Amino acid sequence: MDTFSNLIGGEWTEGPGITENINPSNTNDVIGRYAQGDAAQANAAIAAAKAAAPSWARTNVMVRHNILKAAAAEIFARAKELGDLLAREEGKTLAEGIGEAGRAGQIFDFFAGECLRLAGEKVPSIRPGVEIEITREPMGVVGMITPWNFPIAIPAWKIAPALCYGNTIVIKPAELVPGCAWALADILKRAGLPDGVLNLVMGKGSVVGEAILSSPDVDAVTFTGSVATGKHVAMKCAEHMRKVQLEMGGKNPLVILDDADLDIAVDCAVNGAFFSTGQRCTASSRLIVTEGIHDRFVEATIAKLQSLSVDDARKDGTHIGPVVDAKQLDTDMNYIEIGRGEDGARLAWGGERLNRATPGFYLQPALFTETSNDMRINREEIFGPVATVLRVKDYDEALAVANDTRFGLSSGICTTSLKYASHFKRNAEAGMVMVNLPTAGVDPHVPFGGRKGSSYGPREQGRYAAEFYTTVKTAYQLA
Ligand code: NAD
Repeated sequence: MDTFSNLIGGEWTEGPGITENINPSNTNDVIGRYAQGDAAQANAAIAAAKAAAPSWARTNVMVRHNILKAAAAEIFARAKELGDLLAREEGKTLAEGIGEAGRAGQIFDFFAGECLRLAGEKVPSIRPGVEIEITREPMGVVGMITPWNFPIAIPAWKIAPALCYGNTIVIKPAELVPGCAWALADILKRAGLPDGVLNLVMGKGSVVGEAILSSPDVDAVTFTGSVATGKHVAMKCAEHMRKVQLEMGGKNPLVILDDADLDIAVDCAVNGAFFSTGQRCTASSRLIVTEGIHDRFVEATIAKLQSLSVDDARKDGTHIGPVVDAKQLDTDMNYIEIGRGEDGARLAWGGERLNRATPGFYLQPALFTETSNDMRINREEIFGPVATVLRVKDYDEALAVANDTRFGLSSGICTTSLKYASHFKRNAEAGMVMVNLPTAGVDPHVPFGGRKGSSYGPREQGRYAAEFYTTVKTAYQLA
């Protein structure tokens, strides 16, 4: 079986430990053996990134462009193989895995272009004979800590802008999905990235992640993951007065009004709530439905769910793959019990464990009806294929319920009314708003991020990524 090492200072380096990467569709299938780094390896990686930083910051933008462009080309060319690896280690369907790999390629492509569009400003001074220049400089060493649910897209949307703007990197991917991050590091190394510019240290959050957070030599930290870990990351960064960017959880509402096109509404709800096994920070976990369409919507949604196949992520015809691991499956089952028990909601469909040909973490998507917004299943992020329906009187109540959450990542509405669509776009308390589209599913070249408890710090992706990966300098000169 293949063994995969950490990348430190340009050298593939064995870890002090090793872990098996297991396929959640078939727990007998071991994908590979991956290094488990420790604090010493993390510190060596940080030292390598620090040593490489001055030279990379000055590297010709055409060289940076060429490296990112070559990485994009290889990702596109290998999208099927990388998508298969992704489906095998995370449990997204093969089509979703290939789509996500393609998206990683698009992100590298976009930032390859951005390398050649870096610009500053020249501004007149109020003092005679003085010139002012405003420029952006790299942050230096960026620490990256990523979650398991987008194993290639999230590392890509952090690595590509960091390199574009001249930073060096130490990345620690989630324990459950080291394969895609390793593949990206391998691609970038072969694309010509100088030694030390990108360092990959796989391992535990409590060990490798903590070492990154504790090092005075890390200039900025970008984190995607849960709220609890995010808070810890922010506190540790505050100790160092260090720039931090956090993307965290969601409890995203999808409002369905009486005048909605029923087919579009059901497609948006089923896609947004259950595709990728509901394991998306942008998943539509609360379906807020006005009275006039409520019963038709619930009936049509259940009919659609009945037609979906939950099975091995890489099997032809599978619509929904397994839950990522036993721990997440326990969490999902626990919330289904809370919904039925202490919350007193009605489990209208699904929620049972399923057996398939191979041992995996299969769960029938669960739809709760007769729920209220104060129930735990409507307040806490579950992060699985579990959605609720909230019956509301009218648009005003729908908007109020949609905004009544501590999260604010994505928010959607299905309606044929221009008035309500426009009002919702203006008044939804979320970083991203979708009209007649699922709350999940975003473009790679525009800002991504949320408000309230979902995000902290500057946005990711698109040109807005510069806000995090650069620091602004204002230079005055007597001409
Ligand atoms: P998590 O918080 O458990 O782990 C995220 C990362 O943090 C992992 O790499 C983990 O090893 C690391 N980590 C854990 N403890 C640490 C510590 N003490 N110090 C440093 N690092 C540590 O999250 P997860 O279960 O991997 O991901 C699921 C969560 O991610 C969900 O809440 C989901 O909503 C969120 N998410 C958010 C977005 C977004 O962009 N808003 C995108 C995807 C996922």
